[in-house]
Amino acid sequence: MTDCVFCKILNKEIPSKIIYEDDVCFAINDINPKAKKHILVIPKEHIESLNEVQDLNLIKDLFSAIKKINKMENITAFKTHINTGKSAGQEVNHLHIHILAN
Ligand code: 5GP
Ligand code: ZN
Repeated sequence: MTDCVFCKILNKEIPSKIIYEDDVCFAINDINPKAKKHILVIPKEHIESLNEVQDLNLIKDLFSAIKKINKMENITAFKTHINTGKSAGQEVNHLHIHILAN
């Protein structure tokens, strides 16, 4: 999607350090961290929100990536967070899972 910040990061149109990548998703550090470690896990496919997910295998793949990222980052205690819809706090309309660890 042309006007999406996460698609632009994936396509290297906006510089951002990709800390993890596989066939399905990638991860970056949140630009405005709300915990000591605040990582965003983002599917490569532009899907607006959890409401638009058709194949629930994607969710399994994202959580599988989260386990790998946490191992890589030595994170053992953490919260995962998905905002869905503007009034629930979703600012970027490309599905992502927050990992928050202090
Ligand atoms: P949401 O509120 O949509 O669940 O979360 C969007 C998150 O993306 C926010 O925590 C915000 O700080 C982060 N974010 C927005 N733009 C950028 C960016 O250009 N780079 C990075 N690394 N994070 C971003
Ligand atoms: Zn996108």
